[in-house]
Amino acid sequence: MDVVRAASQGWIEVIVGSMFSGKSEELIRRVRRAQIARQRVQIFKPAVDVRYSDDHIVSHSELKIEAEPASSAADLLAKVRPDTEVVGVDEGQFFDAALPAACVELAGRGMRVIVAGLDQDYLGRPFEPMPHLLAIAEFITKTRAICMVCGNPANHTQRLVHNADRVLLGAHGTYEARCRRCFDPTLSRQDAVVPAAN
Ligand SMILES: [Zn+2]
Repeated sequence: MDVVRAASQGWIEVIVGSMFSGKSEELIRRVRRAQIARQRVQIFKPAVDVRYSDDHIVSHSELKIEAEPASSAADLLAKVRPDTEVVGVDEGQFFDAALPAACVELAGRGMRVIVAGLDQDYLGRPFEPMPHLLAIAEFITKTRAICMVCGNPANHTQRLVHNADRVLLGAHGTYEARCRRCFDPTLSRQDAVVPAAN
């Protein structure tokens, strides 16, 4: 949504969903609208996310926008300029637990804060700090992908490789969007497809 901006009134918008649901595209769309309106915009991404580009956010559909890497929520806060009007944050789930407080601080300064991120991890567990942000945001958008198995609305990120790390960067080949019925968190476990010897 594009919200009409009242003078010096800040707020928080959160965009969450599974991988391949268009979260980054939606963030880029909103930020571009603000740039077209000549608002002063800064965009951040976690320093950990170097999948495609060091200084850009790139959606899976190759939409691209310049972004500054931030190593933590405190680092992000320190990099926001006093005259910035809109702050965009991508991959919010890779930030630390101080991100919600940083967003509250920026909204309190009158800034529009837009955070996109995964709301669940590869096991379907809420992925902090996004659930916290959902609770305190004025505006929430939940994007859905299409299940790559059956075509139903997909709310889950299916990991296709054996790995128990919560953060495993990758895209096509590593993850799929899956609906509730087709999502299988045990697939990522080593014992899922290797039958026990007996
Ligand atoms: Zn399905």
